[in-house]
Amino acid sequence: MAKKQFKAESKKLLDLMINSIYTNREIFLRELISNGSDAIDKRHYMSLTDSSLGADFCIELVPDKEARTLTVRDNGCGMDKVEMENNLGTIAKSGTSEFKQKENTAEALIGQFGVGFYSSFMVADKVIVRSKKVGGNEAYEWESEGADGYTVSPCEYDAFGTEIILHLKPDDEDCSYGEFTDEYTLTRLVKKYSDYIRYPIKSGGKTLNSMVPLWRKRKSEVKKEEYAQFYRDKFFDFNDPAQVFASQVEGNINYSMMVFVPEKAPYDYYTREYKKGLSLYSGGVLIMESCADVLPDYLGFIKGLVDSPDISLNISRELLQKDRQLRAIAVSLEKKIRGELGKWLRSDREAYEKMFAQFGNSLKMGAYDNFGARKDDLKDLLLFESDNGKQTLFSEYVSRMKEGQENIYYASGASAEAIKALPQVEMFLDKGYEILCLKDGIDEFVVKMIESYDGKKFVSVADKDAAGVSDEQKAELEKKSGDNSAVLGKMKELLKGKVKDVRLTARLKSAAACLTSDGDISLEMERVLRAMPGSEGINVGRVLEINPDHDAFSHIAALEPDGEKFADYTLALYSAALLQENLPVDDSAALAALIVKLL
Ligand code: ADP
Repeated sequence: MAKKQFKAESKKLLDLMINSIYTNREIFLRELISNGSDAIDKRHYMSLTDSSLGADFCIELVPDKEARTLTVRDNGCGMDKVEMENNLGTIAKSGTSEFKQKENTAEALIGQFGVGFYSSFMVADKVIVRSKKVGGNEAYEWESEGADGYTVSPCEYDAFGTEIILHLKPDDEDCSYGEFTDEYTLTRLVKKYSDYIRYPIKSGGKTLNSMVPLWRKRKSEVKKEEYAQFYRDKFFDFNDPAQVFASQVEGNINYSMMVFVPEKAPYDYYTREYKKGLSLYSGGVLIMESCADVLPDYLGFIKGLVDSPDISLNISRELLQKDRQLRAIAVSLEKKIRGELGKWLRSDREAYEKMFAQFGNSLKMGAYDNFGARKDDLKDLLLFESDNGKQTLFSEYVSRMKEGQENIYYASGASAEAIKALPQVEMFLDKGYEILCLKDGIDEFVVKMIESYDGKKFVSVADKDAAGVSDEQKAELEKKSGDNSAVLGKMKELLKGKVKDVRLTARLKSAAACLTSDGDISLEMERVLRAMPGSEGINVGRVLEINPDHDAFSHIAALEPDGEKFADYTLALYSAALLQENLPVDDSAALAALIVKLL
């Protein structure tokens, strides 16, 4: 029979496995057992609605010292011919793209990413897979001696399920492969890597594993590495998780949760393609790989599983969403995870800040969504940058507020540096007031939604009344505005269509002018809104505010209002204010010409 060739990527991986100098060859057993367990999960689930598919589920290890073979057998879902070709002839889809990006060493691959079935070739020079798909009549045999391809042919196989027969390599100075037929070695390996597998792993009539799933164990009984291994294998992440939250909840509702915070956001995290959710188990039986309903959107970055005896085993997917128990679990989970995030924040600030850099926007969105329904639950988990460049909690900001400071002040901009350079900010910094620097598009929407913290209102430095202008200053300003009404009126006329109004202000110190918005929507929010499709028409009504005590204004005011110079200076002042706010100028060529002309 002609041999079929492995797909290119698979071949590369296979070569690595065959020629592996990886010292941890023994992990092949974990990989095969874990595949068997997944296959049994699938059949177990099917048997819930079709009891004829039930069986005494187990994984068997059958060593044969004489023949130098080890057989790993499961009575799981099995594979038909097509599945065999697709599944064993190519590495898992999820793996392929990752494989290309990463350093191609067996070590890197195995350490960071389960390589599954192919790891067989680290210990065997011939691998035979025999399988009968659950409910099917025909059985097939897949056979390969490695890189030169594989064959698939019909075979006899009594039960549903799969067996993998490994013809162990001859011993060499690196490894005595024959050891994998020792009962002692097999017991040790099962205990080490596969103890928590929920189905019995049997050899010579004995059950080798304790069968307590990792998530049913107390956190203190589980090693960090065990969690990490589970996480990497199950969620195909190269990196260890940044954090694990595991607990057993008992009371009105009962469940175990084991959830992970990834170290990095997946590339598609902030897109619609990303699928959030936890795996759902009912009393140890996997009923759904990824159940979105148990997590609110803002915790979409959390990976993991929840296992509850209270969820009915034969529940259909459609009914899940309406299930009362599941709703109750979701509510409790959300609270629990929030609580854990809070504990993490208090116990390891540095790690929390790293997490926040990855997923903080999700938490912020959570505070904003649904008209702020969860803002009180989330406000103490949010970090914003202070003008000193450090991340701060609202509570920390408030504790540092100066005497006489009434509000929490914020400003929007690309960086703390850019914000500190804003003309409106100078006065606040002079008074020693701290400024929250809102750098993300959604930030200002979020603080506006939260409104206040600890009785202190969030106020933008761009807000007309923010600066705390005294009554005398106001009176003086009014007088100056009256005296200069003709000048201001003329400027407004010249800037028609560009700004809604031109006013004098008392809030600027060394700067000549600034641009602000007239209403509730700030210039920064306008920028964000304008970037959204269908909102081109948004116009907040910009106002040019001028410092009457600045030379620039006295110069303009002294000019003939109908003259060319007056118009030029007005446009220059306005353009400078635009640039200051990092807003695009209307006509850069005209502005360039104007600057040269003024020179
Ligand atoms: P992964 O387990 O990461 O998907 P593997 O290379 O280990 O990658 O396996 C590839 C696929 O082959 C599995 O996803 C599964 O569909 C199938 N498979 C492997 N082992 C078994 C088995 N014992 N029973 C049924 N299907 C299996």
